[in-house]
Amino acid sequence: MTKRYESAPTEWDCRIVRSDIDKNGAPRTERLTLPLDGLVEYWGQSYAARGPICASITANIAGGEDIMARVEVEGEFSLPCSRCLAETGLAIRGDMRYLFTLRRGFEPSGKKGRGEGGEGDFPDGDVDVIRLDLYQSEIDLAQCVWETLILSLPEGVLCREDCRGICPICGADKNERECGCVLDGVDPRLAVLRGSME
Ligand SMILES: [Zn+2]
Ligand SMILES: [Zn+2]
Repeated sequence: MTKRYESAPTEWDCRIVRSDIDKNGAPRTERLTLPLDGLVEYWGQSYAARGPICASITANIAGGEDIMARVEVEGEFSLPCSRCLAETGLAIRGDMRYLFTLRRGFEPSGKKGRGEGGEGDFPDGDVDVIRLDLYQSEIDLAQCVWETLILSLPEGVLCREDCRGICPICGADKNERECGCVLDGVDPRLAVLRGSME
């Protein structure tokens, strides 16, 4: 039975202990190999994992008691080619930053952390801001790792740049043979061109 995932697998352990992070600002990196056996459901399609996800979480104190965590992920997937449906390999790489803060006044999900200028802005790009509880000794980054992963998945993939797709009339794989079907009275070679411009 193939597993289908729409959120982080429950067995992913991506916790960091707040007291392990250096008070003087030195970053601490954890490298994790996260099992993923099954299909990731996103963009209305299924991405088949070809192995575990390699994640690296680098956390440092970012002023006061805020903790900045950079989440990087790498993984291999396969999914059907958008034109001919041939199973196609896909290597993904994601990189996101999250700021965990005790401070009030931050909009959830980083609205104040984005854009240019103004308070709460970060010079080094987009940051999602997540509220932290004072008594929270650990931070669980499993959903952050998951988000970094799915946001790096492309909407579609082509088996090759010039994939000619499947004939909508006879179902032939046009990468393998030219079937000669005529689409709407249009020469099939022109139809291919027209399709690629849409
Ligand atoms: Zn293809
Ligand atoms: Zn055909």
